[in-house]
Amino acid sequence: MVEQRPAEPAAGVPEVDGDLIDLQAAVEHLGHEVGDRLIGVVGYHPQLARLLAGRHDRQRPRVVLRDLGHADVREHLPGRPLDLLQAGKFGRPGHPDAHEFIISRTGCRPSAGRGGKMTPGGRRESGADVRVVVAGAGFAGLLAAYRVAQAGHEVVVLEARDRVGGRVWSQELVPGDPRSVVERGGEFVLDGYDVMRAVLAELGLELADTTMSYDEREPRGGAVTTARDVARCAAAVAGAAASAPPGASLAEVAARWPGSAAALAAFVSRVVVTHGVDAEVLAAAAVTDVTGGFARRPSWRVAGGNQRVATGLAGRLGSPVRLRSPVRAIEHDHEGVRVRTVGGAVTGDAVIVAVPMAVLRALPFSPPLPEARREAWRRAGLAHNAKLHLPLTRPAAASAVQSVPGRFWTWTATDASGQVQPVVHAFGGTEPGLAALGVAEGPARWASRLAALRPELSLDPDRALLTTWNDDPWAGESYSAHTVDVADGDDELIAAPEGRVHFAGEHTAGAWAGLMEGALRSGARAADEVLAAARR
Ligand SMILES: Cc1cc2nc3c(=O)[nH]c(=O)nc-3n(C[C@H](O)[C@H](O)[C@H](O)COP(=O)(O)OP(=O)(O)OC[C@H]3O[C@@H](n4cnc5c(N)ncnc54)[C@H](O)[C@@H]3O)c2cc1C
Repeated sequence: MVEQRPAEPAAGVPEVDGDLIDLQAAVEHLGHEVGDRLIGVVGYHPQLARLLAGRHDRQRPRVVLRDLGHADVREHLPGRPLDLLQAGKFGRPGHPDAHEFIISRTGCRPSAGRGGKMTPGGRRESGADVRVVVAGAGFAGLLAAYRVAQAGHEVVVLEARDRVGGRVWSQELVPGDPRSVVERGGEFVLDGYDVMRAVLAELGLELADTTMSYDEREPRGGAVTTARDVARCAAAVAGAAASAPPGASLAEVAARWPGSAAALAAFVSRVVVTHGVDAEVLAAAAVTDVTGGFARRPSWRVAGGNQRVATGLAGRLGSPVRLRSPVRAIEHDHEGVRVRTVGGAVTGDAVIVAVPMAVLRALPFSPPLPEARREAWRRAGLAHNAKLHLPLTRPAAASAVQSVPGRFWTWTATDASGQVQPVVHAFGGTEPGLAALGVAEGPARWASRLAALRPELSLDPDRALLTTWNDDPWAGESYSAHTVDVADGDDELIAAPEGRVHFAGEHTAGAWAGLMEGALRSGARAADEVLAAARR
């Protein structure tokens, strides 16, 4: 990352004195020429950033402007003491005379790595750093960026929201009460979350045992059955699903279960809520993933909230993470990438696109990506899920209860203090299931159904917090769903790079799709791809 380099000029590079108020003089001093058009200015100086782009990034603002005439820049710069950190000449397709300059107050030297012409393989001829643009600061994009930055390359992370974490969003339900932190998105850390555990260790974060089990829930509201019967049904259906033909739905495979109808109803209710699509479209194979356990095993959350993973990674990355910077389009060719935002464009050697599938489908690429890939995107399933949280007014034990007819489940859980949080959590799924809970109208109907399902709990329905994701413009889905439409090979096609364009995100994680662990694994994989290309 540029920001982590020492401020001193590299050995043998002539330093330009500070107080440069004339950009042209600074560029010429470094032996470059100013072209007719200046396509990029990147600055750390808060005032400069505000002046140039009307934007202000909290710590070290960086802006990228396109097609800004040289005269305009000079008009904005008089009297501003600036050092020229790096200046490079970039011939770009369609912009043969374009230049890019990086302006900073931290030091002054011509770039070793920025000025070289890139090889088709993605590396600059100078053999130095590459610059990687990452779209999306969820778990996938942040880990990808962090791994690339750790390898000594420059990253820029463009995030549409005013926070990092994406579909992991931790918040105090009762403001000011850290014991009431709830997960509005991704929550449970399950067996096999090895990358998550490694990242937590790197960031100095810990897991807290919830002391309830994600896997074992008491079924309520349907015909009488037990968690044990449901587990037996689940094992039989999972066995049948493993040998079912591709494209078989859960409904088809489950219908062959000869045992208790009540157990089957509870099993199907739980699975479709988890996967966020109905049994007729959910692929039977989906029940064999890590969420398909029905025997009691521990489940965890990150102590203090899962979003701490995102804020921890973003904190390590520092100013390259730019909030409120939605990516509008991506241009790519054998020379580099140009990622367009509202404020201009960010250029780089490669881009890692780590936005959710629902957003990805609508993102313009130039040239367009091959039709086969777009067809795989269209086949990808989008789950519908929402969450509801209510404060408890009396202490409760750790618990997990599934509403069989209601298409939601609820739990109470301990946090890092070892005490049960003063909160009841609920998670609902499938489009018709959420419609029946009235989520489009607010939390009231779901809160009253929850209260009816859990009469033993003392709730405060007036402070219910509802979180929906399918209407969120930067998500459009809760997560990807393995539906019967998904074709053989789609997982590989969706994850594969296209030239300098790489893809990360839970939807690219194959067997780990839909999960925080999948997001992290995909980010690490995309970073590996970029680093391998940089070495070639
Ligand atoms: C309700 C719910 C419950 C869940 N429960 C669990 C669970 O218990 N356990 C588990 O492991 N997982 C769970 N998940 C799934 C998990 O949260 C996700 O799989 C994971 O967080 C996805 O990470 P990601 O980086 O792929 O995507 P995201 O977190 O969505 O990150 C993508 C980022 O891209 C940004 N973005 C979007 N469009 C643009 C754009 N045009 N330009 C720039 N930025 C853009 C978004 O704002 C976002 O920050 C749950 C998810 C939800 C919604």
